[in-house]
Amino acid sequence: MKEKIWLSSPHLSGEEQKYVKEAFDSNWVAPLGPNVNGFEREICAYTGAKACAALSSGTAAIHLALILLGVNEGDEVLCSTFTFSASVNPIRYQGAVPVFIDSESDTWNMCPIALEEAISDRIKNGKQPKAIILVHLYGMPSKMHELMAIANKYDIPIIEDAAEAIGSKYKGKAMGTFGEMGIYSFNGNKIITTSGGGALVSNEPHYCKEATFLATQARDAAPHYQHSKIGYNYRMSNILAGIGRGQLEVLNDRINSRRKNFEFYKEQLAQFKEVKTVNEPDGFFSNRWLTTILTDSYESRENIRMGLEKENIESRPVWKPMHLQPVFNSFPKYLNGVSETVFDRGLCLPSGSNLTDTQKDRVINTIKSVC
Ligand SMILES: *Cc1c(COP(=O)(O)O)cnc(C)c1O
Repeated sequence: MKEKIWLSSPHLSGEEQKYVKEAFDSNWVAPLGPNVNGFEREICAYTGAKACAALSSGTAAIHLALILLGVNEGDEVLCSTFTFSASVNPIRYQGAVPVFIDSESDTWNMCPIALEEAISDRIKNGKQPKAIILVHLYGMPSKMHELMAIANKYDIPIIEDAAEAIGSKYKGKAMGTFGEMGIYSFNGNKIITTSGGGALVSNEPHYCKEATFLATQARDAAPHYQHSKIGYNYRMSNILAGIGRGQLEVLNDRINSRRKNFEFYKEQLAQFKEVKTVNEPDGFFSNRWLTTILTDSYESRENIRMGLEKENIESRPVWKPMHLQPVFNSFPKYLNGVSETVFDRGLCLPSGSNLTDTQKDRVINTIKSVC
């Protein structure tokens, strides 16, 4: 069996251990401590967000963002359909109703036309949507200019799911810092990792303060345990925040490597007209978390995927749209065909920042032999 090539595996720098050791040496082995505070400060410095709350996962961050916006049972939340289920599950934790919005074909992210159509239609049906969760998929920024204009026009707050897009920018501004709140994920497969973790960021510090309060069981100020709100156990541990601090130091290197992966695949595949890559529109900067390709048919996609599998190379079809998932398919949706087409013909290629040139050559030679 040839050596396995993974889609995206953790890539540690060694610097993480310095912070983890500090945590051990000072006995800060708790969901609070200097690494948690430091990690939050450093995320703010990196992204330009005014405030940050380090949490146990990106999913927890989305859940708290919805709670902070007052999303409750029966409320409607507009959400990108082309995403991972973690964008949507927290809507259901609140008993609210996801309304799925299709993608546009340039970035594969939320389509402004479908969004506005959905909002008008929901309002006509008597319901003002409570929030918009829009996702910057695979690191590619969404068309923020148009989406923000629509959200502002109808006065609906945006939660940016930037789980895959830390370090990505639109017109020089970090993804996650445009909306009312933004979230990042530091799960094991993301561009930087704490093994598991997430963060909520905002330019309104009160959101992060309240998120931290809710994430630590909503303890009121009193000498005994006093609670006047439902709380959660969603805080990040000081050990994991230490890993995060080490990872944040090398985030720019990781982005450079991933962008180089993309450039390599793009150049090598240019001769095959049945394979397209997703290019950055003017002013868009993607961290290129995963390089994705769009083939000309389901059969071409499967040929490439199975060819890679035979060579012990992991690739994966793009996310299956949420409106097609058995658990979500009865909810309202506003479609234009883009996410379904991309689902049929899209593939994620090995994109780790630790891929070697030899490994990349193996991937590309396998694809070329199939095309
Ligand atoms: C990974 C991911 C999440 C969830 O983050 P976790 O930290 O794994 O909970 C949410 N949305 C998207 C788009 C993701 O890729």
